[in-house]
This record gives sequence, structure tokens and C-alpha cells, in this order.
Amino acid sequence: MRKEKAVVVFSGGQDSTTCMFWAMERFEEVEAVTFNYGQRHKLELDCAADIARELNVKHHILDMSLLNQLAPNALTRDDIAIEQKEGELPTTFVDGRNLLFLTFAAVLAKQISAKHIVTGVCETDFSGYPDCRDVFVKSLNVTLNLSMDYPFVIDTPLMWLNKAETWELADRLGAFDFVRERTLTCYNGIMADGCGHCPACLLRRRGLDDFLAGSNRGAV
Ligand code: ZN
Repeated sequence: MRKEKAVVVFSGGQDSTTCMFWAMERFEEVEAVTFNYGQRHKLELDCAADIARELNVKHHILDMSLLNQLAPNALTRDDIAIEQKEGELPTTFVDGRNLLFLTFAAVLAKQISAKHIVTGVCETDFSGYPDCRDVFVKSLNVTLNLSMDYPFVIDTPLMWLNKAETWELADRLGAFDFVRERTLTCYNGIMADGCGHCPACLLRRRGLDDFLAGSNRGAV
């Protein structure tokens, strides 16, 4: 384990919870930051807080309601449907979200003397989100280091994993059941396996089925 400190950008979903376990295995000290930007489901914040408490991780919740004011989107507005039209970004995309989240996470990280910032962004199941690309994260890492004169390292353990491999990572970290039962990924605000039909549930389910098919855990 490295004698270093990390901040995990944490939503309480499958990906960032897996990142939390990844960070806890790797770094001596881990804290989490969750952004409140007016998510449809306040449950998301409660879920993140519950997980952090259970894992004994110090949890910071930062107000980012500005984001919703700037860029209304399907994650925050009930009157915007969750959909993706051919050749367009899905309505769940929020311009600048990862740029702002990672930047604020970096300000916090420096305050608490953490070098590492861990985020669950992923280029593999790419929905076309430009700020989930590896090139963006690397570019921002350089910018953050220059802007604050501080040697941040942005870690992206899921960057090249598909959803099945993310389940496999959770399993390797001894966190499969925890991630499956305690996280919230569903756009309709239903914990664990979720509603089963929104895009987030379909993606999560497909990955889980692929992982289970290839593992010795057996079918469910
Ligand atoms: Zn769902």
C-alpha cells in the first residue's frame, strides 16, 4: 500500500464505488467527494453518504447547483426525457461536468494534502461523452498541476474496462456483493439491480450477465 492520500470522486454508483474499493486497497488514506448538482433523486446523495459511512471514508458533499442552472439536463430535470438520438449525445450528458467535478476535486485534494484523484470515467462503453476520454483526463491533469503548482495524479482505474470487467474488478477487490447490493446506478432511482429498463440499468445488467457467464459465480 502506498503511503499516499487519495480523493475519490464518488456518486454512490457501481463505477465510483468500485473505484473506492480500488483506492482503499492502494492508498493509505482515502476520502470521498460527492457533488450535489440537483440530481433527480436525492436518494443518490443518501446512498453515497451511507456507503462512505459504512466504509469509514470521510465524505465531502459539495454544492454544484450552478451546473444545473448552466446546463439543464435529463439527470436533474424530470421534464427532460432520458434518450439518445442517432448521432447525438444522450440527454444525460452535461457539458463541462467532469471538467468541473475534477477541478473542484483537485482544489479539495490540495486542501487536504491528497495527491491522487480517483475517478470512474471510462472510455470503453463510450456514449460519446467527450469528457470521459483518456486524452481529456490527461490534458486536465497537466492543466491542474500547472494551475495549482501541485503534483496531482488523476487515476482512472476503469478507463479501459468494459462493464463486465468492472464487475470482475469489484470481485477481485472482494466487493462484488457490496457493489451489487448497495449502489445506485438506475436513472429511476432504484437501488441495486434497479428498474431494469432504463439505459443505465440495461448497461449494468448486460455487464453483470457477461461477467457471470464468464466467472464461476454461476447464473442468477
Ligand atoms: Zn433503471
